[in-house]
Amino acid sequence: MSLRKRFWETVPLSKMSEEEWEALCDGCGKCCLNKIEDADTGEVFLTRVACRLLDDYSCQCGQYQIRKKLVPECIQLSPSNIEEHAYWMPATCAYRLLWQGRSLPEWHPLLTGDPESVHAAGISVRNRTVPEFEVDEEDWEDHIIEEPS
Ligand code: SF4
Ligand code: SF4
Repeated sequence: MSLRKRFWETVPLSKMSEEEWEALCDGCGKCCLNKIEDADTGEVFLTRVACRLLDDYSCQCGQYQIRKKLVPECIQLSPSNIEEHAYWMPATCAYRLLWQGRSLPEWHPLLTGDPESVHAAGISVRNRTVPEFEVDEEDWEDHIIEEPS
């Protein structure tokens, strides 16, 4: 099945095909960075410490099809769990934006037709990360960053 024309404007998240759901991802890689959550306030801080499977340049998962086997804590986002996870997801994430009833940003690859547009707009984590196997978890707070947006 091919993508329906401008499906993100007319089809609810729960009615999208698997292909449409996957196409919503802009490839920014920000959800694959480790976060620190303040247990008292619930505030979430983003770090530049990336999941061990994230490629810093492409911002893609190195083993997307078998990621759950290699990284059991990886969260597989779906229409049924987005409400639970939206609070920590990047502000520019297409899933979060549509779930909030908002539009896709103008640099989104679905609108530009170019997967590089997310990087050109400075939204992605390209060349900004350090792999988690290089940083002890107790030092993650030294790597807190502002979300590229
Ligand atoms: S933050 Fe959202 S849009 Fe960006 S890579 Fe993750 S799922 Fe895709
Ligand atoms: S396993 Fe892949 S998709 Fe999951 S957080 Fe790591 S890099 Fe991202």
